[in-house]
Amino acid sequence: MIKLGLEGKSALVTGASKGIGSAIALQLAEQGVRIAVNYNRSEEDAKAVVETALKMGGEAFIVRADVSDVNQVKDMVDKVHEAWGHVDILVNNAGIINDGLLVRMSDEAWGSVIATNLNGTFYCARAVLRNMIRRRWGRIINIGSVVGLRGNVGQANYSASKAALIGFTKSLAKEVATRNITVNTVNPGYISTETVAGLTDEQKDRIMSWIPQGHFGEIEDIANMVTFLTSEKARYITGETINVDGGMAI
Ligand code: NDP
Repeated sequence: MIKLGLEGKSALVTGASKGIGSAIALQLAEQGVRIAVNYNRSEEDAKAVVETALKMGGEAFIVRADVSDVNQVKDMVDKVHEAWGHVDILVNNAGIINDGLLVRMSDEAWGSVIATNLNGTFYCARAVLRNMIRRRWGRIINIGSVVGLRGNVGQANYSASKAALIGFTKSLAKEVATRNITVNTVNPGYISTETVAGLTDEQKDRIMSWIPQGHFGEIEDIANMVTFLTSEKARYITGETINVDGGMAI
């Protein structure tokens, strides 16, 4: 493992109890970053991530919050500030799908996806920003989706929420650029997680035909890019949207 000089930084990773978020949290922990592992429902999974980080000799704790609830986000960030004084790195990873054709899409299916994927990102970024600005260093990384670029049948809500992150990222990057804070979006393609495991064989075959590399990605592929973006080596990259997708967005 190449050390990136991140020792002693503190990170809040939302939706870190499983999947991509857990890989990001653990890879940052490997780099010596202190990790606040956010979860909403999966407390045991979140505890397991913390256990693994502690075994690596890192510092970590779990922090429950539904990121779509502004008050819960405030409480969560207060807890991290109480523990470590500040958040250097925020990874807005928590995300959900609630698929359906638009003609039949309920208000709830639309609203819940926007609330978690988009509002959650806004609430978390706003809550950590004042402190980051004061410290004149920070990294905000939003996890989007290649579906935010390409669209997908049955995912108008999800696609809209992820496409919105691109504009959010660009605007915030401009706002905080002079403060040594970078803001970027990483767009995963299809990554082997519980969500993808739940697809039918027919769906998997169809998706595979869109991926030039011919296979799904691994959670570490996303964590690798996020870890790089948090480092000083990526200090001149901001406002960007980086696809990690086996060529799917080409
Ligand atoms: P998983 O379903 O495996 O994990 C989702 C995580 O988000 C869980 O830790 C879950 O926590 C958390 N979460 C969900 N809702 C909330 C909420 N309201 N508040 C706090 N945490 C919440 O997802 P993936 O790892 O597959 O996806 C992670 C991110 O990557 C998402 O933003 C997703 O859109 C994006 N992505 C994933 C792709 C893939 O192929 N897997 C492709 C493109 C993008 P808990 O279980 O504790 O509730």
